[in-house]
Amino acid sequence: MILRKRNKPLPLQKYEALQARLPANSEHHPLIERQIEHATRGYQGELHTDKYLTIPSTRFTILKDVCLVSDKQTFQIDTIVITPNALYIIEVKSLRSNLTFDTNLDQFITGSGNRQSGYNHPITQAKAQKLKLQNWLFEHNQPNIPIHIFIAISDPSTIINVIGDHEKIANTVTHSENIPWKIIEYEKQYTTNQKYQHQKIGHVLLRHCKDFDLDILTEQGILPGQLIPGIRCHHCNHLGMKRVKQSWVCPSCQYNDRMAAIKGIDEYLLLVKPWVTNKEILNYLNIDSRYTVSRLLKKHPRLQYSKRRRRWERIQV
Ligand SMILES: [Zn+2]
Repeated sequence: MILRKRNKPLPLQKYEALQARLPANSEHHPLIERQIEHATRGYQGELHTDKYLTIPSTRFTILKDVCLVSDKQTFQIDTIVITPNALYIIEVKSLRSNLTFDTNLDQFITGSGNRQSGYNHPITQAKAQKLKLQNWLFEHNQPNIPIHIFIAISDPSTIINVIGDHEKIANTVTHSENIPWKIIEYEKQYTTNQKYQHQKIGHVLLRHCKDFDLDILTEQGILPGQLIPGIRCHHCNHLGMKRVKQSWVCPSCQYNDRMAAIKGIDEYLLLVKPWVTNKEILNYLNIDSRYTVSRLLKKHPRLQYSKRRRRWERIQV
């Protein structure tokens, strides 16, 4: 069964919100645009690979978008499949160009002809993830289950070239659609009686999983005060939705969204910090009524008022 689902990555959500809240002439736009493009391509590749994991999900335990901490270091794994025999790490690569693995020189090259470039070797990266996960399982008193790694190439049109040992690469690298069959092939090799409780290991991992996050305002050197205030239209990104009856309406595209202000508070909690005051939301959403802001904060399903700190704090629900 699927124990942990994949959501849109928090950094991607943040970059999208930030893009809409910076002035058109901001110097930050080109870099933010590249980050959005890169993160979107990665996320779509992961979703594409997920489609093929429905077959193993009926028999095995699956966790997507795993983020753990070992020895004060955070590490991420795109997908983990646990069976009674082994644990499989699946790292997804969503590259647009063709790929070449050179086993003689241990190189990984993307592109072709004059447009080639070296990249971090995905197998080396995945091996490092494997080692971190092995340590993590040991630290958490989990059995020493065999771990295998797969690199899933999400774009079916990507051509995988190999220079040198074809078998070595073919054992690990494949297009996403072949992943279930690769797992089944590996599973056939296990004939011993030792079986692992895959659900149990999965639940231990799930309990410790966190959502990978980045403080992108600090990363980009942007202060919260530099963000353009207003309620954002999630249809056209216009800032400044207006209160109409019980809802909010975009003056630019007429989109009507009852939850627009709540989404605006969520955006502040995501982008700036996990707590707010009435005044901060009044300014951030550019609402002129203190009464409306106070009602919105009280109505918000994931906020709790702290009397001691005199602020609204995000709670886990
Ligand atoms: Zn709009």
